[in-house]
Amino acid sequence: MLSREEIEEREDALLAPYALRSKFSKGRRFAEARHEFRPDFQRDKERITYSTAFRRLEYKTQVFVNHEGDHYRTRLTHTLEVSLIARSIARTLNVNEDLVEAIALAHDLGHSPFGHAGESALNELMANNGGFEHNLQSLRIVEELEDCYAQFPGLNLTWEVREGLKKHAPDRMNALEFDIVDVADEIAYNAHDLNDGLRSNYLTIDQIKELKIWQRIEPEITGKPFGVSYLTNAKATRNLVNAQVVDIISNTTNNIKRSSIKTVEDLTKIFVEIVCFSTNIAGEIEELKRFLFRELYKHPKVMHMNDNARDVISTLFKTYELQPENMPLYFQKKMSEWGRQRVICDYIAGMTDRYAHKEFDRLKTSL
Ligand code: MG
Repeated sequence: MLSREEIEEREDALLAPYALRSKFSKGRRFAEARHEFRPDFQRDKERITYSTAFRRLEYKTQVFVNHEGDHYRTRLTHTLEVSLIARSIARTLNVNEDLVEAIALAHDLGHSPFGHAGESALNELMANNGGFEHNLQSLRIVEELEDCYAQFPGLNLTWEVREGLKKHAPDRMNALEFDIVDVADEIAYNAHDLNDGLRSNYLTIDQIKELKIWQRIEPEITGKPFGVSYLTNAKATRNLVNAQVVDIISNTTNNIKRSSIKTVEDLTKIFVEIVCFSTNIAGEIEELKRFLFRELYKHPKVMHMNDNARDVISTLFKTYELQPENMPLYFQKKMSEWGRQRVICDYIAGMTDRYAHKEFDRLKTSL
């Protein structure tokens, strides 16, 4: 049997010198005894997976509302795809796979129901009270809102995992592991939004053929009399993930050499991007994103779902403002500490799509 110390030694010996290491973690906010055989980042990813917020991801919208069909991505399947992609990149670049996995598994915990439509509705409702943003909410969930330990609020994760969740924060430490999760998120949604878009027939292969990236991912399948479009879609998605991952790995490797990155400290002293696409594919990905934005995220049927989501969220918000007794006792009690609006926002943000609908049906008559 290996002890935690032995597993940490093995990690230290094997990882690249610029990888973050469990044994050098800056630790947890509240002191805890360390585990007999699980290093801290491994323990963190397990805490995240066992959390209530993680289980709720199954019933939260990615782009297509949860009840639209059983084969579309949900927040949970998106999260698992991000984790797989991020781990694959981390393993190949020989940086900390456990840390990357922990951050990936937690990166979307803070998403409200109904995807970005839900997020922007909550942000508007919170305009005078600090706003709402899903990355900050992911951090708030792991630091404050998860309630399963008597000794501390949240999950008491290591400093590194929490720092990794601060996407877009200007003062976030520079680490390859953090950037790998950010780019894996992008790789995953570029590919699966294309896949779900084609599956739903909101997008057509004829439209996508106009994009430069189509040539790169060579999805044409010949000689199949049945199911050609389905197989083409599946192949295009696989190839798109692979093309992006291969490019990130090779371009990042070149950037590490070019910037002479030798240690974790070296990364904190540079101001150029290390984990990024090569210029060639970057332009094609930008074109794909503009296309998805125009043709999928702004598709009339998606916009209709979004209008509906806004209605549900603003009705819930206004009802709880007037009648906070409709929230569970735990949230009512927190109002004096966090403020009424923040508590309402936390409560709604935590809901799954189907629970938000259920609450909407229950409460719409009480206004
Ligand atoms: Mg994401």
